[in-house]
Amino acid sequence: MTAEIIDGKAIAAALRADIARRVATLKSRHGVTPGLAVVLVGENAASEVYVRNKGRQTLEAGMTSFEHRLPATASEADVLAIVARLNADPKVHGILVQLPLPPHIHTEVVLRAIDPDKDVDGFHPINVGKLSIGEPCLAPCTPTGCVMLAKTVQPKLAGLEAVVIGRSTIVGKPVAQLLLREDCTVTIAHSRTRDLASVVRRADLVIAAVGRPEIVRGTWIKPGSIVIDVGINRIASVDGKPRLVGDVAYDEALVVARAITPVPGGVGPMTIACLLQNTLQAAAGVNRAG
Ligand code: NAD
Repeated sequence: MTAEIIDGKAIAAALRADIARRVATLKSRHGVTPGLAVVLVGENAASEVYVRNKGRQTLEAGMTSFEHRLPATASEADVLAIVARLNADPKVHGILVQLPLPPHIHTEVVLRAIDPDKDVDGFHPINVGKLSIGEPCLAPCTPTGCVMLAKTVQPKLAGLEAVVIGRSTIVGKPVAQLLLREDCTVTIAHSRTRDLASVVRRADLVIAAVGRPEIVRGTWIKPGSIVIDVGINRIASVDGKPRLVGDVAYDEALVVARAITPVPGGVGPMTIACLLQNTLQAAAGVNRAG
């Protein structure tokens, strides 16, 4: 058996095209152009690439893109002042503060300052809480993308044994909450889990968000399961050039699983597409209380 390869690039492109159509409708019917503001503090090569891609894809979707760059020496008060301005700006529907922030700035203070209705990353405690009690909210982008990809293979996930490896607030915990919403039976495994292999062997759906190259071996995978690999790990290949691998030993899992996401080209492209979806949702006001 060779697994179906879940083409995250194509699925994300289709989602962005659908978002662009819905943006056009929102503009023509209600005169609202969704606006996404990204705040970047300091110089980080990876963040620069993300921010550039976000800006380009925001414009391609027909939205307005705002970029605020601050030097690494900016104070927490400087960042909070920008967030306050963006909170008050009616043209801005989504605010994203690019992480990581320089160490002298308290990430949680900045994230809590964002208006929860504009919190398109879904990291504000209000959105985290709403996600856990099952209320409409802005849910984190990468976890939303993972669930979407799994549903392209099996539209109804109800009843599946899902094992999430990793308990971060960015991926592991929110993806587990989203899978509970889909009526999966969810196990969260982490660095202190005993016998990870036997836990993973139970899974009809594996979400690997660890950040350890190829930690999940093919022998751990239940035949016929769906494998979503969130991990992005840079390793040296035989010729010495760096290459990207996921948390799952892809070639081994490919001959056991029913479907699997590649790295790169799986979960990665879904993150920005889901960010645009959240921005559209925020602009349409579907998330607001009342
Ligand atoms: P993190 O370091 O915050 O969390 C890693 C989790 O893995 C922790 O909860 C830890 O308990 C668990 N873990 C560590 N070692 C383990 C082990 N030996 N066995 C079992 N569990 C173990 O990382 P994160 O932010 O959640 O990201 C995880 C991976 O996903 C990284 O490779 C990151 O680059 C990638 N990522 C990709 C995207 C994307 O595709 N857009 C987005 C976010 C993160």
